Amino acid sequence: MRLAKKPAAALNAGMPISVVTGAAGFLGSHLVDKLLGHGHEVIGIDNFITGNPDNLAHLTGVKEFRFLSHDVTHHLFIDRPRIDYVFHFASPASPIDYLELPIQTLKVGSLGTHNALGLAKAKGARFVLASTSECYGDPLVHPQTEDYWGNVNPIGPRGVYDEAKRFAEAMTMAYHRSHGVQTRIVRIFNTYGPRMRLKDGRVVPAFVSQALRGEPLTVFGDGHQTRSFCYVSDLIEGIYRLSQSDYTLPVNIGNPTELTIREFAERIIRLTGSASTIMEKPLPVDDPKQRKPDITRAKQILGWEPVVGLEEGLEKTIGYFKTKV
Ligand code: NAD
Ligand code: UDP
Repeated sequence: MRLAKKPAAALNAGMPISVVTGAAGFLGSHLVDKLLGHGHEVIGIDNFITGNPDNLAHLTGVKEFRFLSHDVTHHLFIDRPRIDYVFHFASPASPIDYLELPIQTLKVGSLGTHNALGLAKAKGARFVLASTSECYGDPLVHPQTEDYWGNVNPIGPRGVYDEAKRFAEAMTMAYHRSHGVQTRIVRIFNTYGPRMRLKDGRVVPAFVSQALRGEPLTVFGDGHQTRSFCYVSDLIEGIYRLSQSDYTLPVNIGNPTELTIREFAERIIRLTGSASTIMEKPLPVDDPKQRKPDITRAKQILGWEPVVGLEEGLEKTIGYFKTKV
């Protein structure tokens, strides 16, 4: 990918300017596309620790997009007097990634969030934090509402991610309350779609690639744990609407259609037309037993709800992975 060295001088002075950390990741790259589509100039930042330059390759030559290769746990300097939005999406997000990168995950959630908030404060930008349903841990309230405080094991292997995000939320609210920064917090539930890494270990790329190769689908535990999967275009629309709203408290964005992981594996086998079987593997430590967003708040405040059904979203995703397997 060619990286623009300087922002083009000819850009419209009235254009909103957005910074997206984690821009080369799955969600960050879709968010960049969405913002460009809404007439923003976008500065994407990434250190490629779990991201992929291919996710931004289609933006080569787009003058409204500029890329900075940078680790956001170090001080962030952007040579623009004005920035309108800082979207902080940088963080390993797959359980396999954050188990392999525990310190980096804690640092990007803490130091990285502090730096991104500092940038927003210095430039007068609105800050949007990509938080997560993992803030609810292994939830005892179902479906999860935003006022549930969660059930997280701070010292378990998943704690590096969950607690980093909980710290990030606390830091975001502190910058809002103490410094008056305009902040938004989106709690993202399991999201899938094109540009996920084939080997990132999350269940959608794992099952789809196994089914396409005719290998057994690796169901962890007995497969009775539940998840609710949101297609990426729905999620990004929800996040965009939140960024335009005046709502400061966390908002769940996800698809409330819940199914067990075993049902999900069977669905993928059917949709791919695969002859694969199902093979049980040990359940990871602290794997949440159930997860489903209550999206009442997003409906009321943003007028948002998902419109892409599971089969439609999976068909698109399977089409993408067919080109990668
Ligand atoms: P991803 O791994 O595809 O993208 C994360 C990006 O952040 C990568 O490109 C990575 O290289 C970059 N990054 C990580 N540490 C960095 C650092 N120190 N400096 C600069 N860049 C860094 O993951 P994703 O699924 O796109 O997730 C994006 C965000 O959304 C994350 O904050 C994640 O916690 C959150 N989230 C995602 C989901 C989901 O289902 N995809 C669910 C909940 C929350
Ligand atoms: N999972 C699975 N097989 C896999 C990968 C994941 O059964 O090969 C399960 C995992 O144990 C969890 C669910 O699928 O219960 C979703 O896992 P993922 O890593 O996608 O995200 P999580 O919701 O756990 O953050």
